[in-house]
Amino acid sequence: MHRIKKILVANRGEIALRVIRTARDMGIKTVSIFSEADRNSPHVKFADEAICIGPPPSSESYLLGEKIIELAKKLKVDAIHPGYGFLSENANFAKKVAENGIIFIGPSPEAIQTMGDKLAAKSAVANYEVPMVPGTSTAITDIKSAKEKAEEIGYPVLIKASAGGGGKGMRIVNSEEDFESQMERAISEAQSAFGDGAVFIEKFISSPRHIEIQVLGDQLGNLIYLFERECSIQRRHQKVIEEAPSSVVSQEMREAMGKAALDVAKACNYYGAGTVEFIVDENLDFYFLEMNTRLQVEHPVTEEITGIDLVEQQILIAEGKALEIKQEDLSIKGHAIEVRVYAEDPTNNFLPDTGCLETYKRPQGPGVRVDDGFEENMDIPIYYDPMIAKLVTYGQNRSQAIQRMLRAIEDYEISGIETTLDFCRFVLEHQSFISGKFDTKFVEEHFDPEKLNEEKERDRESAEIAAILAASFFNNHQGKRKTTVSDSQKKSKWQQRKNH
Ligand code: ADP
Ligand code: ADP
Ligand code: MG
Repeated sequence: MHRIKKILVANRGEIALRVIRTARDMGIKTVSIFSEADRNSPHVKFADEAICIGPPPSSESYLLGEKIIELAKKLKVDAIHPGYGFLSENANFAKKVAENGIIFIGPSPEAIQTMGDKLAAKSAVANYEVPMVPGTSTAITDIKSAKEKAEEIGYPVLIKASAGGGGKGMRIVNSEEDFESQMERAISEAQSAFGDGAVFIEKFISSPRHIEIQVLGDQLGNLIYLFERECSIQRRHQKVIEEAPSSVVSQEMREAMGKAALDVAKACNYYGAGTVEFIVDENLDFYFLEMNTRLQVEHPVTEEITGIDLVEQQILIAEGKALEIKQEDLSIKGHAIEVRVYAEDPTNNFLPDTGCLETYKRPQGPGVRVDDGFEENMDIPIYYDPMIAKLVTYGQNRSQAIQRMLRAIEDYEISGIETTLDFCRFVLEHQSFISGKFDTKFVEEHFDPEKLNEEKERDRESAEIAAILAASFFNNHQGKRKTTVSDSQKKSKWQQRKNH
């Protein structure tokens, strides 16, 4: 057992802050690293020590594993927390950290290696009764036999890069004629994007849900699952809204998915916090997709409904302690929703919209949690993921969580850049979302960017009408009022509203 007294957080933004906060709660000292683009970031200010690691591009800063390890040694750090993205799923980095006598806050390098490769993961779990999406179980080398397999599965099929991640490296093939050309493209893309051309095929489930299970395991072999997260609201195969629990998961289904997730974890002797992702079809049959061997972006919704601090658990596990929580101690209390606030323009195909956060005011009040990494007047750098914040609401039940989210979205004041907030409100107010009957095709089927434009136009008009009314009221009552507001002040207030 090694007591951790000082942690270096090898990440940036909201997740670096998230980790630092728990470390401070535990009386652990923290070190932040930052690139030249992040010099003024809150994650730099909140740490006990902060060191500039290099120029803005990640390849010259946050991805420099060796440099980060050297720094950790120099600063006498006991452990490194990798957050998500960057080096978090790099088995080689985890291994080198350990070789240098530093604790890697995460699973073993072997578990990262196995689960980081979708095919290796499938083969590792083959000995367990984990349901799999029909498809090939090895990398495709011979296009002709792959085509036969595709026939057998039935079109459409999905070609996936074994090393893929972040929603990248997938191609849908609708018919036999396209198979060969799509396969060639998929292989060359996988080679250039992930440095590994291995691809396989999977049945394309037409209207699936994405539901995942949070697991925790200690180094003594104890494993528990912390229920599910529903992550079906996605754009570009990437999540934007998540919630826990899921509206479609019954207690029986939860237990079956929990058992399957623990089997996946057992298959790689997993320890730490991890997530087993499943795809669920219309019949509510679920299939193993992949395992993410790190803290997940959407982990707060699980924290809200279980009352467990997942980062604290990660740290205790890394120290070698036995899990104190037993499966039977766990229960779901209430409902939590997370919306990811991205600097993206939903009316322009969700393209990143970076720039300056001219106005930035967080919502507050009962049931509202904001995990973010920016302050007003900061620039959202173009070099990294354009996520500004995760807005999480908690309620005694789903409808209270939704109501609180709508309030929080309304109270969030951001100007200077486009964000996904209005899009998220559109989803939360949509009948399909409210009824719980939705799948990963929600955006494709229900989202019409024009509606957001119309809404913006309406807001603008009503703000103008309100301004005219206010001005005439003001003129009529001049002299009767004790305090007066200057015209310029009024204007700037309405101007602000209009910019939302
Ligand atoms: P999660 O899987 O935690 O729900 P995302 O899929 O959005 O969240 O991924 C989390 C972060 O990790 C994002 O910043 C994403 O860009 C990054 N990421 C995930 N997989 C990869 C990968 N294989 N290569 C590079 N970045 C990745
Ligand atoms: P990544 O490593 O990029 O996160 P995943 O295998 O987790 O890759 O898939 C990401 C998303 O792609 C899923 O959440 C789902 O929306 C979609 N997807 C993946 N596999 C399938 C499939 N077989 N059929 C339909 N959609 C899929
Ligand atoms: Mg995934």
